[in-house]
Amino acid sequence: MNLTKEIKQPAVLSVPASGRELPLMEAFYTIQGEGYNTGKAAYFIRLGGCDIGCHWCDVKESWDAAAHPLTSVASIVAQAQQYPGKAVVVTGGEPLIYNLDLLTLTLQQAGILTFLETSGAYPLSGSWDWVCVSPKKFKKPLPSVLAKADELKVIVFNKSDFAWAEEHAGQVAPHTRLYLQPEWSKAQQIVPDIVDYVKNNPKWQVSLQTHKYLNIP
Ligand code: SF4
Repeated sequence: MNLTKEIKQPAVLSVPASGRELPLMEAFYTIQGEGYNTGKAAYFIRLGGCDIGCHWCDVKESWDAAAHPLTSVASIVAQAQQYPGKAVVVTGGEPLIYNLDLLTLTLQQAGILTFLETSGAYPLSGSWDWVCVSPKKFKKPLPSVLAKADELKVIVFNKSDFAWAEEHAGQVAPHTRLYLQPEWSKAQQIVPDIVDYVKNNPKWQVSLQTHKYLNIP
């Protein structure tokens, strides 16, 4: 059954091309739980708006951009500056729907590292210290974004996803770190397969959603 057909896709709010204001769903200071930067203190900026439609999405509230207040970049950065950890994770939703040049430059000027979490389905904007591309089946990543990935993080829902992961590994740069991460609701069933796969294909590493085990956001 294709569950994605049952999901109504939200309209994405159009925002000024300048990116001076962005639909902010939530922002919070926590620990990055996944991928290369696991364990690092980071301020998360979650932007509203996504038209990808993953059926297992755990932040469906983010999809409707209009449900989240347009917030000035100045205000977003001022909040981020309050915390001792000088790294920000920009996530969504799909943050690359918006022009992120101003947000990332302002953060970097404030001495804050900029980490991106994206599906790669929209052109890359912004100045990034780390780009994590997590490709989704429902809207393919752009080759131009895959080429800029520091990290490729593939969510594994079933065994056929390993072949799909390899397809994308063939499109990233040689230095790109490769991660396989179990989809949370399937973790118990699929983790043994991921462990076997990584042991046999050691260019990959396991990524776990450690924040969920730590019971933090
Ligand atoms: S791309 Fe991310 S936010 Fe959008 S539907 Fe998929 S998991 Fe959810």
